[in-house]
Amino acid sequence: TDTPRRPDVLVVGGGIGGLSAALALTLQGLRVRLYEQAPEFGEVGAGLQLAPNCTRILHEYGLLDEVVRLGVLPEHMIMKDALDASELTRVDLKDLERRYGFPYLVIHRSDLHGVLLRGCERTGGELVTGTRCVTYENIEGGARVTFADGRSDEAEVILAADGLHSVARPLLVDDEPVNSAYVAYRGAVPIEQVRANDVHEKDVVLYVGPHCHFVQYPLRGGRMFNQVAVFRSPKALAGQDDWGTPDELDRAFEGTCGPVQKGLPLMWRDRWWRMFDREPLMKWVAGRIALLGDAAHPPLQYMAQGAVMAVEDGWVLAQHVGAQRAKRSGQGSGVGWETALAAYEAVRPEHCRRVVLTARSWGELWHQSGTKREQRNAVLRARDTYDYSFMDWVYGPTALTPSALC
Ligand code: FAD
Repeated sequence: TDTPRRPDVLVVGGGIGGLSAALALTLQGLRVRLYEQAPEFGEVGAGLQLAPNCTRILHEYGLLDEVVRLGVLPEHMIMKDALDASELTRVDLKDLERRYGFPYLVIHRSDLHGVLLRGCERTGGELVTGTRCVTYENIEGGARVTFADGRSDEAEVILAADGLHSVARPLLVDDEPVNSAYVAYRGAVPIEQVRANDVHEKDVVLYVGPHCHFVQYPLRGGRMFNQVAVFRSPKALAGQDDWGTPDELDRAFEGTCGPVQKGLPLMWRDRWWRMFDREPLMKWVAGRIALLGDAAHPPLQYMAQGAVMAVEDGWVLAQHVGAQRAKRSGQGSGVGWETALAAYEAVRPEHCRRVVLTARSWGELWHQSGTKREQRNAVLRARDTYDYSFMDWVYGPTALTPSALC
């Protein structure tokens, strides 16, 4: 290769997953080089929810104070019926923080991305943009990646954090993204624009309705307001290619309550996100090439755990790297990679499988109509605000250790 010093690890993909993994490994003293295909690093200008199983890790990286300063600590998470606006259930997020030891927060994606990027720069990670990886191969004592321009680079290990359409995933499985036929519209606007709309400025609010839902929460210290509108596309169901267009957005929310109707005109109408996941995959490691984040486990976003799982992946791998590391000798990092990667693969896939499948069933529950909607509402209204039985396995620390398998 024509690169100066061989790094220990190459990371492909500079999203939240790739950056946080690069940070975790540089904090363990490894030399990491990260390649991103886009000409510049960045994220969509919308919001992201971060549950305690992520803020716990950000705290450990020394980043939580900055993330809290940039984001918002909402007071409640409230679920309402999208047709009649009645409250179905709520979570007290201050109590949740006491239970899990770390806060539930919401943040602008580009703010979190920037925090991770600056963290990587501080810890000496090498960050390269404008470089698209096209092939991966295992070589003696490591792995090699080749770029679209014909150059290549190699290291002891390559982490493929290259998202839903991962180029590395076919090394492990011959599968395709699963089309949910649902599409998401987003819109983040200055808070002044929604003040007249009766919004909760300090809460995360989720309206669930027939084949649609609508999410609202504040961002940037309450100066901005984030909205997400998700619905099932009739054109997708009919097999048409141009699905998810704004006319479908308006039709999907006909009949929903006033607060939802008032939010719709503020959605960005020039882009939308078609929602795909993949069937769970239990093998993420091929020799010295490992998948991470959406490349390994893209979920439907209903549990708000996609980015969170990606952050957990990097933390778990770095823990095992730390445990399997002898002194650096000559060119080598001193990491017992076979054991570290095997431990990563023993912990993470089972947890992420459960999240991907649970997210699908949450979607089914949220999107009910008719009698099933009424049954759902009765069950949710009966839930105790302080019942955490459906959250412990997600928000507690168990996803980080093999005990998650128990
Ligand atoms: P990506 O963000 O897809 O990053 C992959 C990166 O790799 C990109 O920068 C891409 O340019 C780069 N890349 C791809 N191919 C190549 C290549 N060949 N060579 C070089 N670089 C390449 N998650 C949460 O935790 N909380 C939420 O509240 C939440 N809300 C969501 C709301 C919506 C509407 C959606 C759609 C998703 C939501 N998610 C949420 C999910 C979350 O956004 C994703 O799971 C997460 O961003 C995945 O991160 P990643 O780094 O693994 O992948």
